[in-house]
Amino acid sequence: MTLDAAAARIMTRCDELAAISALPDGILRAYLTEEHQRHNALAAAWMAEVEMETWQDAAGNQCARLEGREPGLPALIIASHLDTVPDAGRFDGIMGVLLGIETARLLAPYAKDLPFAVEIIAFADEEGARFGATLLGSRAMAGTWDPAWWEAVDAEGISMAQAFWDFGLDPERIDDAARAPKDLVGYLEAHIEQGPYLEAAERPLGLVSSIAGARRFRLAILGEARHAGGTPYERRRDALVGAAQAVLDVERIGRERGVIATVGQLETRPGAVNVVPGEADFSLDLRAESDALRDAAWQEIHAALAGFCAQRNLELVVEEIHAAPTVSCSPRLTRALAAGAAVTGDTDPITMYSRAGHDAMAMAAVTDIGMLFTRCEDGISHHPEENVMSTDVALALQALQEAVWVLAREHGERAAR
Ligand SMILES: [Zn+2]
Repeated sequence: MTLDAAAARIMTRCDELAAISALPDGILRAYLTEEHQRHNALAAAWMAEVEMETWQDAAGNQCARLEGREPGLPALIIASHLDTVPDAGRFDGIMGVLLGIETARLLAPYAKDLPFAVEIIAFADEEGARFGATLLGSRAMAGTWDPAWWEAVDAEGISMAQAFWDFGLDPERIDDAARAPKDLVGYLEAHIEQGPYLEAAERPLGLVSSIAGARRFRLAILGEARHAGGTPYERRRDALVGAAQAVLDVERIGRERGVIATVGQLETRPGAVNVVPGEADFSLDLRAESDALRDAAWQEIHAALAGFCAQRNLELVVEEIHAAPTVSCSPRLTRALAAGAAVTGDTDPITMYSRAGHDAMAMAAVTDIGMLFTRCEDGISHHPEENVMSTDVALALQALQEAVWVLAREHGERAAR
């Protein structure tokens, strides 16, 4: 019943956090805002119920630490984020932070048996809603903060550096948020799946094999703008017809190769009703379980586009604007989470790769990562209708708690050898 009570508390607190929003009729909590101050204060109070030491770090992340059998041991981090996208749901990120706090509550009476400390982190900015760049809180903690971000400005023209000062943080001290690999034993993150696969398989929990790193391109097809009435088909170099073919090829190749390929933006020039389009600019976002699969799909897409552009006397221009490597989860931590899933009754848990980015990606730069997904209703996320079941939250908590003890036993055995 302890688990059910804890899950009920998590559900209630997800609602309490949802009430902190910059939008009157929807959820938005962005970095270095009044909402950020308020959600950190709330999280700190909840962390303090477990009699952990709590603090806000140099990047505005809200942290708490449960000491193990002696003070100062390296820490196992359990974390996720409290910021949101605009008009967000109630669970993305938040549920993982609250699962961490409840795990600490269950561990606290037995902390003297833990061969490591346990830290709960509520990251301050994963979504990038205010400054565009994502994973800011976890990048600061991983020591990979990009100094170019200081010049980034929000919609009001306020720079990141100014926003730090306004929030009461000192940009000069950002390195204080960075953690050293020797001080960490690993990183666990529980998160809603944000996709439909677990629900379709009727499984409450899933293990994450890797987190897909995206490649993003800005593509342009160049033809010739001509009078729509006066130009016969054989004389046209219609850039939009080329782009339409590109969108279809992107989807076909993505499906055939099992990668996620999306054209999300498309714009034509001159964009007039009576002019054959002379230029079509569009985006491409590519993700896959591994970099090799993703890169092979890109080669095929590029070849297909270049081929029909040549046939139609169109010019293809390619600019790569973003590339992040796919990050693998640690077999050691994934085994521990699998043992956790086993005590919930799932001895053969589904393993999947994460198509969405997570704080764990950034933390992989300093320590091993492991991720546990929970089922969410209809795969809906980044939307007010995001929903999870309290019973699934209870199972995730049980699995996390067991995973910590599995890691504690392994750690003890390694130390004894
Ligand atoms: Zn998230």
